[in-house]
Amino acid sequence: MLKLIIGTRNLKKREELVELLSREWPCHLPLKLQGIEDYPDLPEVEEDGETFQENAIKKATAVAKLTGEWAVAEDSGLEVDALGGAPGVRSARYAGEVSPAPGGRPPEDAYKENNLKLLKALEGIPLERRTARFRCVIALANPEGLLFVVEGQCEGLISQEARGEQGFGYDPVFYLPGYGKTFAELGPAVKNQISHRAQALKKFRERLREFI
Ligand code: IMP
Repeated sequence: MLKLIIGTRNLKKREELVELLSREWPCHLPLKLQGIEDYPDLPEVEEDGETFQENAIKKATAVAKLTGEWAVAEDSGLEVDALGGAPGVRSARYAGEVSPAPGGRPPEDAYKENNLKLLKALEGIPLERRTARFRCVIALANPEGLLFVVEGQCEGLISQEARGEQGFGYDPVFYLPGYGKTFAELGPAVKNQISHRAQALKKFRERLREFI
């Protein structure tokens, strides 16, 4: 069994990562997955990189070094073509900083404000010109350093209004024309087949097999 720390405090992301890493398909991986909440003294790793890759590597290598275990970390976000690729690496903080401190803005409020800001920024732009993609970069590290990085993408359109209750973040405004629904309407069964995180995890599993 390989013990692997999931280096994210975002519960929704962690749920998706655990679901995707625990799958039997295309093969069983003998992993013991552990969250970073089991290491309460671990300092916060600041996501101050210019790219998803920089942030994913920074988080994975820091968590591996601090815990002395293998660690996986991801950075992800939304790129909207009509906005020159924004919000990009600033996806979580698009409408303002999110404070994890007690009394800070809860993530659900931040998600709602981010979506409102995005819909406002795209006001008047027809659906066919609202092209966008989710990107996800996943890094694996051990205490000696980085082992590898993989990336996944998922293309879609930004809808004219928020729709659906499931998922998190920009899911209510990320519209998949092939399904006629947003990620928040589609739910985890479909999202976890086609999402940027699913694409990246597929590559991640293949690479990880080489180390097990
Ligand atoms: P970070 O990786 O914690 O910086 O957060 C990335 C941000 O991108 C999240 O807070 C969400 O706003 C957005 N994001 C990343 N992946 C997804 C997804 O699967 N659905 C919706 N939003 C996402």
